[in-house]
Amino acid sequence: MRDVFNFNPGPAVLPEPVLESTSKAVLNFANTGMSIMEVSHRSKEFDALLVETESLVAEVMGIPENYKVLFLQGGASLQFSMVPMNLLSGGKTADYIDTGSWSSKAIKEARKVGKVNVAASTKDDKYTRIPSPSELKLTPGAVYCHITSNNTIYGTQWQTFPDTGNVPLVADMSSDILSRQFDVSKFGIIYAGAQKNMGPAGVTVVVIRKDLAGDVPEDLPTMLKYSTHVENSSTFNTCPVLAIFVVHEVLKWLKNMGGVPEMEKLNNKKAAVLYDVLDSSSFYRGTVQKDSRSRMNVPFRLPTEELEAEFLAGANKRDLKGLKGHRSVGGMRASLYNALPLEGVQKLADFMAEFEKLHS
Ligand SMILES: *Cc1c(COP(=O)(O)O)cnc(C)c1O
Repeated sequence: MRDVFNFNPGPAVLPEPVLESTSKAVLNFANTGMSIMEVSHRSKEFDALLVETESLVAEVMGIPENYKVLFLQGGASLQFSMVPMNLLSGGKTADYIDTGSWSSKAIKEARKVGKVNVAASTKDDKYTRIPSPSELKLTPGAVYCHITSNNTIYGTQWQTFPDTGNVPLVADMSSDILSRQFDVSKFGIIYAGAQKNMGPAGVTVVVIRKDLAGDVPEDLPTMLKYSTHVENSSTFNTCPVLAIFVVHEVLKWLKNMGGVPEMEKLNNKKAAVLYDVLDSSSFYRGTVQKDSRSRMNVPFRLPTEELEAEFLAGANKRDLKGLKGHRSVGGMRASLYNALPLEGVQKLADFMAEFEKLHS
């Protein structure tokens, strides 16, 4: 057992059994006598793993038959471009909801490609909340509506997804995929860089409704077309073999833990421990509105920056790692992804109580 609790925002904590099985496969994958890094992405051993990884994603997320799961590269950031390049041609309009830095980046890329309507933004409130349904100025007949399901930097999260009628939602779920249950059929595309809740950096999971991959501009570069990857089941070119292996192990671990429903319960419990500390203290201050709180990333401030520096140093000494907040928000941020155990959050809460007693 490791002594360190890793609160990093991403790349982030991975389950210990996953690190163990990966270390074995780095030496000898599936009794091939070769490392997972040495086998062909077209070998029968890896192909079996790829097929199983795809079906595990579908199983744990409850993905309907008319969707395809892809394993791509370029991070969530490439999806900011790929989504509009594939869907937003020919004078169509897409709605985007601006809830933070990652949403803004997605909007910036989409504007290079087509017409973007920012249907709501909480920028004027420093992104401390998710907009309410009545604030959304949705475009009738929009080709899709893009949201960021969890705002990793600001610590806000959509509690219920917006109702966009027949317009498919497209969601950047990089930092809360697999953390809670939801109805996939409301979404046209879901994408996530794996390095927060699913695995290591280097692979991006894309869940796409197959009909949306069908109708894309002919002149798009081959690698940027969803249809290329759907038709070739993610092996048009060399896929990130090692990263996909780790995703496979994470999914097996998650299933073993009781799947997404059990993860969700555990995540709610973990977040409650921390928010209870914030709510019962006048020393610590949560930075987001209560109805928008993320269960994955919890930013908070202390009374002064000097105390914040001292808090960070003390936390580090107690093996509570990665708590420094994003530079745009300051203070602390505790990321509580699936693989972070409840004990880690309790240890952090105990340290917070102790630190407050000493300094208030
Ligand atoms: C981390 C993160 C990204 C960036 O992902 P890359 O894989 O580094 O491109 C995008 N969106 C959200 C919500 C994130 O948390």
